[in-house]
Formats: sequence, structure tokens, C-alpha cells
Amino acid sequence: MELEELPGVGATTASKLRDAGYKEMTSVAAASASELKDACGMGESAANRIILAAKESLDIRFRTGTEMLERRKLVKRISTGSTALNDLLGGGIETQAISEFYGEFGSGKTQIAHQAAVNVQLPEADGGLEKGVIFIDTENTFRPERIIQMAEGHGLDPETVLENIQVARAYNSADQILWAEKAAEMAQSGDVGLIIVDSLTAQFRADYTGRGMLADRQQKLNRHMHTIQRAGDLNNLAVIVTNQVMAKPDMFFGDPTVPIGGHIVGHTSTFRLYLRKSKGGKRVARLMDSPNLPDGEAIFMVTQEGIKD
Ligand code: ADP
Ligand code: MG
Repeated sequence: MELEELPGVGATTASKLRDAGYKEMTSVAAASASELKDACGMGESAANRIILAAKESLDIRFRTGTEMLERRKLVKRISTGSTALNDLLGGGIETQAISEFYGEFGSGKTQIAHQAAVNVQLPEADGGLEKGVIFIDTENTFRPERIIQMAEGHGLDPETVLENIQVARAYNSADQILWAEKAAEMAQSGDVGLIIVDSLTAQFRADYTGRGMLADRQQKLNRHMHTIQRAGDLNNLAVIVTNQVMAKPDMFFGDPTVPIGGHIVGHTSTFRLYLRKSKGGKRVARLMDSPNLPDGEAIFMVTQEGIKD
């Protein structure tokens, strides 16, 4: 269905919507009335009517508990490579959810992202979904060489594994937003089992400096996360985002670092895992937030062949 077919949307409004970045029915359905008001110069009640009509056209409506249970039964899990980490996650990285890995530089975020990009391609019996992956690389740390090592660790053909990874390099936050929209579109094919954004926040942090820009940054980040969340929900795929930490100067007890992105990122991520380095090359993952799993810790290793116990 085209935007023009929504009641109350003519050619002019449709083109205003598209110019403002609402190119798909899904983005109109997820917009807030005040966003549409600002973007298209329409009244609040007109904006609300358009949003509701877009939701209806996509069959977005209340679901019964039974329907939700049926949807949950479709959830699949991708192995991280470590049994302990899989157990912590209730079996692996879930589809229809955003799993956020945050931690300091060198804590293993990018390694986990690479491993998941390989493992999603495995047969379901071996912890994969037998599907491809989209990798949005914002820090220029995607390394095909590392993929080859991990593929060989599984006895997979490295060339095939590399062919099934679509990599986009994002040079700034606007670029990253566009790649995510493109990824959501590509995912409709059903061939994508995983979308990775490594890192979610680095470009936003660089582009929006200073207190005055914080509200704008958070609004953009919120919409960006909802784009990938929707792609995960609609196509039953997994989403992995990585995040950096910053020092919290007013904290005197406990761990003085917190993830970037504040409540927006915290509330939109379904699972939050805090990674840190430990003795003897060990890494510790701590589950900080989950809708249905107890908090806890897992120990894993980063080896030549990838993530292991
Ligand atoms: P970040 O959390 O900053 O994304 P990474 O996931 O890139 O960090 O982790 C980098 C670390 O991973 C390195 O410091 C090293 O300890 C480990 N690592 C990277 N490549 C290999 C490899 N081929 N063999 C073993 N360990 C590796
Ligand atoms: Mg990294």
C-alpha cells in the first residue's frame, strides 16, 4: 500500500512525508503525532488519524495474550560460541529482540559481533538460523580476516560465509540511519537472520556534542533504534548493537562506568550485557537487564577460532 492511499493523505502530504524521511508505511506508523506535525505542517488530530490509518494498514493492533504466546514460540536463538554465555541469555541471542553488548574498549564487543555474523549462518541444529547477516560498521573495525578464522573454526567454507555478510560502513550518524533503513528494507526478503550495528552510539556521540544538542541526538537515536527493532519484530530476526561506556564522575561506589545513550538506549534494548576483561584473557559478561531472565554472569574467552568457554 502506498502512502497516498491512506485516508487524508493526498499527493502533497505524501511527498512532504517522504521528504521528511517517512518513506515507508512502517515509519509513518511508528511516528509520533508531534513529529508528523513538525515535518508536514499538519494539525495534531490529522497527524493522529494518519498514524492510526498507517497502523491499521499494517495490521498493527492489540494482540491477545494467546497471540503473543504464539509469536514468542517463533523466537529462535543464535549461539554466541560460548555455552556459558548462551545459558546466560536463555539459550543464545534471541530473534525479535535487540541485544546490546556494552563495555570498555577491547572488552570483546566487536569479537562477539563477528562471531554472531558467522554463527547465524550455521544450521539450526548447530546454533544458527541458516541465514545471512547485515553488518553496519561505524568504527571501521569489521575484519574479513577475522571472519575467515571463525568460519574455519567451524569447518565452514570462508568464502561462502563472507558472501553472506552484507557490510556497510557508516561515516556519520545520518549515514548510519540511512543504512539501517536500507537494512530494514533488505530484511523483508526473509534471507536475513541478524542485523548488527557496531557501534550504535559512537557516531551519534561524535556528531552531537554539547548539552544543547542532546535532545536532538536522543530523538534521532530513538527513531534509529525503532527502525531496527521493527525490522527484527517483523522478520523474526536478531539484532545486536554494541555500545561504549563513559565515566560517571559523580559515582563513588560500585562500577563508575555507564553505557552511552541514557534511557533511550536502555529502554529500547531488550537484553543488556556488560562486558569486561578479567584475568588470564578471560572475559566476563554480566546480564544487566532482561524481560524474563535472572541477572547473572558468564565467563568466556576470545580465541583465534572465536568466542569459546
Ligand atoms: P571492543 O569491545 O572494543 O569492540 P574487540 O571485540 O575488538 O573490542 O576485542 C579486541 C580484543 O579481542 C583484542 O584486544 C584481543 O584480546 C581479542 N582478539 C582479537 N583478535 C583476536 C585473535 N585473532 N585471537 C585472539 N584474540 C583476539
Ligand atoms: Mg569494537
